[in-house]
Amino acid sequence: MTDITRQDTRQLEDAHASGVYVKRPLTIVRGEGALLFDDAGNQYIDLVGGQGSANLGHCHPAVVAAIREQAGTLLNCTEIFYNDKRALLLDKLTALAGMPRAFLCNSGAEAVETALKFARLATGRKEIVATMPGFHGRTMGALSATWDPKYREPFEPLVPAYRHIAYNDLAAADAAITDQTAAVIVEVVQGEGGVRPADGDYLRGLQALCNARGAMFVVDEVQTGFGRTGKFFAHQHYSLTPDLMPVAKSIAGGIPMGACLIGERIGTLPPMTHGATFGGNPLACAAAIAAIDALVNEDLPARAAALGGWLLERLADLPTDKVREVRGLGLMVGIELRSKVSPVLRALQDRGVLALPAGLTVLRLLPPLVISQAQLETAAQAIEAVLAEIPETV
Ligand code: PMP
Repeated sequence: MTDITRQDTRQLEDAHASGVYVKRPLTIVRGEGALLFDDAGNQYIDLVGGQGSANLGHCHPAVVAAIREQAGTLLNCTEIFYNDKRALLLDKLTALAGMPRAFLCNSGAEAVETALKFARLATGRKEIVATMPGFHGRTMGALSATWDPKYREPFEPLVPAYRHIAYNDLAAADAAITDQTAAVIVEVVQGEGGVRPADGDYLRGLQALCNARGAMFVVDEVQTGFGRTGKFFAHQHYSLTPDLMPVAKSIAGGIPMGACLIGERIGTLPPMTHGATFGGNPLACAAAIAAIDALVNEDLPARAAALGGWLLERLADLPTDKVREVRGLGLMVGIELRSKVSPVLRALQDRGVLALPAGLTVLRLLPPLVISQAQLETAAQAIEAVLAEIPETV
């Protein structure tokens, strides 16, 4: 139990937090598997899934045990030294990704920054091509690749030489990718942009254009990675070979970590051109080893594929006067409504289900992959009930 009251928690956060988040009136104090608990002991089915960082569920016992053990051994060891846990993680991660090297860091945005910097280093070119309405993070380089003007405009001028093209449009890519292009960055399923899956042919075509024109093919798997879409990495659905692959979120079972996987086309990177104090720290590495082992041992990508397929079919029965489209891949599911999503999120919370928006009208579901079918059915019933309640036009 926490030692401050519920009132204090909210007052203190309201008084002293930055103010950049829109808060829900809920204080979460504990998590277990696919469930979260508030400070009054109420239980919620978690379809927020730590915005994609809780693929293993909350407090997975193997991750908790690994963190406990490593915490008493060594917390911090910068990459100027070798470390046993880091070596083991690099071996596992690169084997799973089928990419030979990785740069370890601390978040998704940092992993994206790394990819864009390495693409410029490897090609000696400047231009970055990204897609609409892609999301790649909020640091200046990653933000420059992010499309939504509401995230970008307050911070202009951004990094020069970025451009955005239509998603799933190979002709647009053909026109945009030139001998000046350092990288093309794309999500296999656009997450924040509305849960929009790409066509396999489009992604394969994009990769071929990059190869033909000497640009690096960057697949942002920060949200789609670690089993979310039914494969360990979403690009494996289409047998792609990314040159750079930023990952983060669920990599370390819920504690902060990011990585940028590095493919064969990125040659030798000059020493001292990039770095991060906490990159590859043993605590995060130990957690990531345990998380990756658990994902493999519990076959969670296959579970995401099976449960995700079931959920998409289940949601296909939702009333079409309220729902424009249901789409997704594995357990990354979007329900595009004909009205605003915020009242739906509030009503779901009242019924014990926590979910996410993606833009103004898409209800986004990112449940932990350990969720049971019964819990998903309960959540689907809540969604059905809430949609039945909302007026036809809001
Ligand atoms: N890329 C993608 C595809 C994401 O979904 C996100 C986060 N939603 C990021 C990058 C940025 O990750 P972080 O919040 O860890 O910086």
